[in-house]
Amino acid sequence: MKNTFKVAVDGPAGSGKSSISKLAARRLGIKYIDSGAIYRAITLYFLEKSGGSFDSCDASLLGDSFSISQKFTEDGTTYTYLNERDVSNDIRSETVVKNISKISDNRQIREFVNSLLRRWAEEESVIMDGRDIGTVVFPDADVKLYIDASADVRADRRVKEYASMGKTVDVNDIKNQIIIRDDQDRSRGFGALKQADDAVYVDTSFLTKDEVLEKIVQIIKDNAKGI
Ligand code: C5P
Repeated sequence: MKNTFKVAVDGPAGSGKSSISKLAARRLGIKYIDSGAIYRAITLYFLEKSGGSFDSCDASLLGDSFSISQKFTEDGTTYTYLNERDVSNDIRSETVVKNISKISDNRQIREFVNSLLRRWAEEESVIMDGRDIGTVVFPDADVKLYIDASADVRADRRVKEYASMGKTVDVNDIKNQIIIRDDQDRSRGFGALKQADDAVYVDTSFLTKDEVLEKIVQIIKDNAKGI
């Protein structure tokens, strides 16, 4: 059997965990899986199915008419497909973010997502980011990281991201959205955002992207067997 390892990266919205996980995956030549994109794609699915608004969702609808997949390319980009349609941009909308907790609070949907994620990570080395990867999806991950940053720093980063796309947003609105999402993510009854007891805590507030990358690649190299 091939010697493979799993890296679980958790942390709050905007902590930089996705971009860092992608860079680390490229550096180490392993697969990156974005679990948040799956919750986003399912939210988009229910939004479209309901004509734009829904209060609750029936997980059994994720049956035969629903397929989801993800591709991580060599240049470090992730694409997410819903029923073969590329929804990588659509899942980043504010409407999706506003409705996502109706999906991520649903236990059956979480179980559906978890088994999908475990299947995608079979038989190869992966780095996966999310909220409950080290606690629920892969409690036996070889390396667990908890990436954090203050709400102010995370809001500033989001504002810059929007600016690079030519969009002007209010930093206080963004900070409030971040605080609301942190609260939703930390307080759900199952799959809540939580640092695993054996996770390494990395505060990125005052580190550059390169500094974070070097730090986490070193942690992975020190802890992953078969690297
Ligand atoms: O990471 P990202 O911001 O794309 O995640 C979007 C949302 O998906 C989170 O706010 C959370 O509600 C949900 N999520 C989750 N569990 C994960 C990953 C994401 O509940 N493992």
